[in-house]
Amino acid sequence: DSVFAQIVRAPEDPILGVTVAYNKDPSPVKLNLGVGAYRTEEGKPLVLNVVRRVEQQLVNDVSRNKEYIPITGLADFNKLSAKLIFGSDSPAVQENRVTTVQGLSGTGSLRVGGEFLAKHYHQRTIYLPTPTWGNHPKVFTLAGLSVKAYRYYAPSTRGLDFEGLLEDLSSAPSGSIVLLHACAHNPTGVDPTLEQWEQIRQLIRSKALLPFFDSAYQGFASGSLDADAQPVRLFVADGGELLVAQSYAKNMGLYGERVGALSIVCKSSDVASRVESQLKLVIRPMYSSPPIHGASIVAAILKDGNLYNEWTIELKAMADRIISMRQQLFDALVARGTPGDWSHIIRQIGMFTFTGLNSEQVSFMTNEYHIYMTSDGRISMAGLSSKTVPHLADAIHAAVT
Ligand code: PLP
Repeated sequence: DSVFAQIVRAPEDPILGVTVAYNKDPSPVKLNLGVGAYRTEEGKPLVLNVVRRVEQQLVNDVSRNKEYIPITGLADFNKLSAKLIFGSDSPAVQENRVTTVQGLSGTGSLRVGGEFLAKHYHQRTIYLPTPTWGNHPKVFTLAGLSVKAYRYYAPSTRGLDFEGLLEDLSSAPSGSIVLLHACAHNPTGVDPTLEQWEQIRQLIRSKALLPFFDSAYQGFASGSLDADAQPVRLFVADGGELLVAQSYAKNMGLYGERVGALSIVCKSSDVASRVESQLKLVIRPMYSSPPIHGASIVAAILKDGNLYNEWTIELKAMADRIISMRQQLFDALVARGTPGDWSHIIRQIGMFTFTGLNSEQVSFMTNEYHIYMTSDGRISMAGLSSKTVPHLADAIHAAVT
């Protein structure tokens, strides 16, 4: 008998499970709105032209080798990633108060940051918004932190529960860590306004809470890398300390390359260098050193003015297509006279719309219309196209009438 005979089957990941069910459905009209990955109008994955070109250059450059890179990753990549999120003129970067390490996309960067805090920070509680990306509680619990929640989304308005957020952060013990989605909150698509961010900043600083930004969608929300980084830059500008996990999965379409970064902004360059020395001790026994390929692509694009411009144009095209899908879906529901207020579809931002459909309505749409999404009613706008909007609008209409 197997020594593993006692092992019980684990449940499918709720998000990846949607794709498993979708793949089994033979219907020609089936639609997968579960995955958080960009699709073209034709429903195909997209590799950016600028990424293809840089990859060709990397392959043809015979001076390049496959040696291990440092524990902290490629130095160029780290420096350029910090500039991308904090701004090229950021005093924190210029004063060497920031330590940046390459991470295994957003997830790996969050995990390294979490383990560093669990080991070295005096407060081991992290507050997560309700709801949040399903992986957050698991990543931070396994990193050794204790997870608590703060109110974020108000189902009644399908918008921000700003009062609840302020109340919950006010009553968090001093020093607590607060996870903030830098932009394009997943799964709700609801972001605070800049004025609200400023109030959140004041509260966080006055209570000496420690902000930990998850920046998985820079440039993907508004189409502008700078606009989407504003909340993070607001917090850096006050001179206080914070962490940021960056991902290049969405904004460069490098999902499977697993390329991201963790930055910790400190009060002085001396503290930053000691922090970095401890980050190495977190990373070394976890995976020794990060992969070279994806980070080389990113560094090449960020380093070169022409490639960078080309990237921003392709990035904006992705963001614009998603924004146009919002408008088309909203218009299609209005045209059908679908009961209810659907304006949140055009108010929300980023990859996802939190439709407000309940799990029975979601099941109905899957069973009757072959439309797949997570049971919380979240749909990926990036998985829609002009051709599939009418089918989705029909399904939503039927589900709520
Ligand atoms: N954080 C949020 C809010 C996300 O939505 C995602 C991806 O869906 C991630 C982090 C991490 O993604 P990755 O590890 O692929 O960069």
